[in-house]
Amino acid sequence: MNLEEYHRLRSFPFAGKRLFTKPGARGFPDPRYELLARVAEPRGPTLDANPGVGLLAASARAKGAEVTALEPSRAALRALSKNAEVWGFSARAALPWEAPEATFETALLVLPAERGSDFVRHSLVAAARALKPGGRLWIAGDKKKGFERYFKEAKRLIGYGVIVERQGSLRAAVLEKENTPEPLPLWHRFDAELRGRRFSFYTLPGVFSATHVDPASALLLRTLPTLDPGTRVLDLGSGYGALSLSLAAEGARVVGLEDDLAAVLSARRSAEATGLEVDFRHSDVDEALAPEEKFAIVVMNPPFHLGGRVVLDVGQAFVEAAYRHLEDGGRLFLVANPFLKYEPLLEALFGRYSTLAVNRYKVLAATRQ
Ligand code: SAH
Repeated sequence: MNLEEYHRLRSFPFAGKRLFTKPGARGFPDPRYELLARVAEPRGPTLDANPGVGLLAASARAKGAEVTALEPSRAALRALSKNAEVWGFSARAALPWEAPEATFETALLVLPAERGSDFVRHSLVAAARALKPGGRLWIAGDKKKGFERYFKEAKRLIGYGVIVERQGSLRAAVLEKENTPEPLPLWHRFDAELRGRRFSFYTLPGVFSATHVDPASALLLRTLPTLDPGTRVLDLGSGYGALSLSLAAEGARVVGLEDDLAAVLSARRSAEATGLEVDFRHSDVDEALAPEEKFAIVVMNPPFHLGGRVVLDVGQAFVEAAYRHLEDGGRLFLVANPFLKYEPLLEALFGRYSTLAVNRYKVLAATRQ
């Protein structure tokens, strides 16, 4: 799949209309969404707190609900916004805890287990707080991914609940809001030493490697040469900013592109705390870059999971975007798990590559000729 194909929306027939999706976006196909779309009975103002591309939001709209969908992923949001137009619901870039309080009669939540239990807990609390008293929260999840535990916790936080559907290991349940749970503290802070400097990083729930610097990223930083001051650097998938901020501290001019809004907000706060200027943009791969923006260095620790599955679409789009936005003689530095086969793609695009380090991870480098 090339970069144009990566960015292209595609559509499938769904409930008499079309449902749009794209590579890199969560939520379709996904049996948890289909299960909840089938069994939920949304009424009145409805919050979808984990819409992905919007299958459940579309189905809730088709059942007559007035739907607001909050989605932090840019990739998902691109398809979700299109579906919002087609189906007639509202969608915006936001984290679940940004939902207005005591506003909705119904909340829908496919448990975002792949983002970790901290993010699930925050999503449950946010959905509960967004409901009016007596409002209903519909959830779906997988027994193999902690559904029972989350359901128990949801009942403790929110009120009475019952399982309404079982399908293999999938479960759907509904709860009625009796209690308003207290909001949970959002920010986590940790300190780290990178390339001889101390940093304080701030992270929101669900952010990649939110409590410590990822060991693959640390290896990449140890392998990178010293950069000349003013070097233009692109950090693709910049997360909370570990790579961007270390290089900015050495005088590089850095742009960080990141799909997850929680990570973008974390990176901006971390930059502010260290007094560094980095241009962090909410972006599906290179979506937020103009074609003429070029860099001397691109760094990346590409993602290879999406909604719990291993996928290489996004990583490949990262490498192709890097190639396009490197100036002549510019260099890409990539760190990955050794089992991920980036080498053929590097050879195809750059002609050659070198392996700078291999241990639990490998660091590959390639120069645009
Ligand atoms: N550079 C950071 C994060 C690396 S993990 C660090 O070293 O800590 C990969 C990052 O890519 C994650 O933050 C993930 O949210 C982001 N990502 C995933 N899909 C993306 C996409 N389509 N566009 C941009 N970023 C994406």
